[in-house]
Amino acid sequence: MYLYFVSWWRRASRWTRTQAGDDLHGEHELRPATSFTVEADDELHCGGFGEFFGDLKTSRKSFWVLEDSQRLSRTVKCMLKLKPLLKNFLQCEIGNGKSVSFWFVNWCGLGPLIDLLGASGPRQLRVHKDALVSHATLDGDWRMPAARSNAQQLFMAKLTSISPPNDLKGDDLFLWKRLSCTFAKFFSSKETWQQIRHHSPLVSWHKAVWFKEAVPRYSFIAWLAFQGRLPTKDRLRSWGLDVPASCVLCSNGIETHHHLFFDCPFSATIWEAFAAKFWPSPPSGLLPISVWILQARSPPRAASSQSVTIVKLILQAACYLIWRERNARIFTNDATTSAALQASLDRTLRDRLLSLPGSPSSSSSLLASYFGCILFPF
Ligand SMILES: [Zn+2]
Repeated sequence: MYLYFVSWWRRASRWTRTQAGDDLHGEHELRPATSFTVEADDELHCGGFGEFFGDLKTSRKSFWVLEDSQRLSRTVKCMLKLKPLLKNFLQCEIGNGKSVSFWFVNWCGLGPLIDLLGASGPRQLRVHKDALVSHATLDGDWRMPAARSNAQQLFMAKLTSISPPNDLKGDDLFLWKRLSCTFAKFFSSKETWQQIRHHSPLVSWHKAVWFKEAVPRYSFIAWLAFQGRLPTKDRLRSWGLDVPASCVLCSNGIETHHHLFFDCPFSATIWEAFAAKFWPSPPSGLLPISVWILQARSPPRAASSQSVTIVKLILQAACYLIWRERNARIFTNDATTSAALQASLDRTLRDRLLSLPGSPSSSSSLLASYFGCILFPF
């Protein structure tokens, strides 16, 4: 959904990037004069932002009144599903009133009027459901019938404090909701993501899996392993699959997460060979290992930040290579020896550390720190 949100925004506004960085975490200026409309043939047309929200030509339907239909593409369908979210994120300061939907955009500070006045609002105020704000004026003044409900009275009272749209005021100014709940003319995809994503409680081991120097595909496997979500044989059997329970790495134990990481003699040999070069007595078991790593900077070990980073990389690369080896033995009958897997881990770490710049606070690079502890073959 988030990607469609960004996709929608990119299509709807020709944003200008105002700072370098990842597209998904950048901050983009809202360009009020740009957007697209959805035509009957379901093509997306870049045009005015105002058109996007309020085109009234009979051959076209504005985004706000367009209903879901089998004729629409999946992209447009997903964008239509975002309508309920948009009303919380979008506000508008009235300029000439020629690009703002009267009913569906919060331009008066009371939220979208269709929510305040209900489905009968357009009939009672004699303002069409597809109207723009400029259509609710006559000779430079608001054109409204007498209020007939408390909600209408509230709206009329608010209207007295809003000056009618005027060409001299320029284009309407669209604003986007920020993390601070204020509205600004910039769209920040990072802040938007923070507002729409589901927030789960932090787990104690997250810094052992997700860190700046991590390799994403290694982190992903380690993340699954920490949560016990890899399809290990014990889980497959619990789902009713008829598979042998034994570990393919050592042929002795029962394959579980606890066994693979790192109770299995095969796995333990690889993990301990590298981790023990940094600090003595590395534990087995992912949770004890995460505690062991994350407390390493405290006394009595007072380890350097570089060695913590390297051991975290060793952990996630070992998880990845062991899981890959397990899969290779099951699905392709290819078996690698423990020594060969250690060589593979060493090469993987060297490649990764070589690509990382040195820390300004440290005189030696991560790779130099690695070689200070590990010279493979042992
Ligand atoms: Zn085993």
